[in-house]
Amino acid sequence: MFTAKDLNELLEYQAPAPVLSLIFRNDFIGNTPETNKLILRSLIKGIQAEEDLKAVRVFFEKEFDWAASRSAVVYSCQQDGFFRAYSFSVDMKNQVQISRGLMLKSLVSTLDRFSGFGVTLVDQQKTRMMAFHLGELVAESIFEGEEVQRVKQSGGTRPMGGLSGVEGDPDRIKTIIDRNFRKASQLADQFLKKHDIRRVFLGGTEPTTATFKEYLPKVWQSLISGVFPVELTAKKQYILELIQEIAQMKDDRHQQRLVETVITETAKGRRGVLRAEDVLGAVREGRIQTLLVEEDFHQPGFCCTGCDYLTVQKMEGCPFCSGLFEKIGDIGELAVRNVLLTGGRIKVIKNDPVFHKHGGIGALLRY
Ligand SMILES: [Zn+2]
Repeated sequence: MFTAKDLNELLEYQAPAPVLSLIFRNDFIGNTPETNKLILRSLIKGIQAEEDLKAVRVFFEKEFDWAASRSAVVYSCQQDGFFRAYSFSVDMKNQVQISRGLMLKSLVSTLDRFSGFGVTLVDQQKTRMMAFHLGELVAESIFEGEEVQRVKQSGGTRPMGGLSGVEGDPDRIKTIIDRNFRKASQLADQFLKKHDIRRVFLGGTEPTTATFKEYLPKVWQSLISGVFPVELTAKKQYILELIQEIAQMKDDRHQQRLVETVITETAKGRRGVLRAEDVLGAVREGRIQTLLVEEDFHQPGFCCTGCDYLTVQKMEGCPFCSGLFEKIGDIGELAVRNVLLTGGRIKVIKNDPVFHKHGGIGALLRY
């Protein structure tokens, strides 16, 4: 399974020759395998890199699971003996390119949108914890606390709601639930930490989730992306679809706020930049905190072979190191790589007409 460690390896790879990058969406639900194979064939048709294509074909024939994987990302630079292929359980957009660097934007976006999902389903006794990474269940753990129903008291008069008429001492029941929640929250804390969770989802009946939330450490409370009613025994696919939907709505709102912030900050001459040339200047200075780039952003430009300085303007020699410029197909991809290498973040913007009007590339600056 693809992790941040794999991304780091790809980031650090310096290709001595052009690299073939390929993203293929295998829609095995909507299409027959034959149709998907045809789509792949037409995607790589006309690519001038025979050795790399050979390696790609071998991967799809021998290793790729056509019946279960929704996407594949492949990099090949046979001249350097470099080949990496990853399968994903989430959808990605078809794309192919031969370029100086690896095409990483979509991969970074997929990691950003689909990794580190932690789900905690609770009732008064049990807790079911799940970690999803890139559309797959990577861990599951169940905690069974003390049974709340067992508390019976001869003189009890108050029936407990939902416990089929079992009567009990409300204080004792409260104590047991408190103990269960305390233990469950400790276990959830360990579980969420262990699996690098970045978004937390709580499921269960309304009063239970609200109470349980208070037991969680503050750091996890602040990462709660959604709370929803669900049975503890719900199927994992159902839960996955539910949390992905909630996450997407949250992402869309976050994206919109980020775009607004960059536009405002740029207009006020503060911590924002919008024109491609200004963004690239900030990339060179390592000032970018978050780079915003449209999903379909493609703009040719020039890259200094001496210091990696990116520009959209044709110049004779590099103003910083007098190096020579090389023409590149997409400044967006190289900007993504440079920003990640200097510790900045990437936000790939999807379907935002306002951002598109502003050029499709922008950034929030560190200072
Ligand atoms: Zn230079």
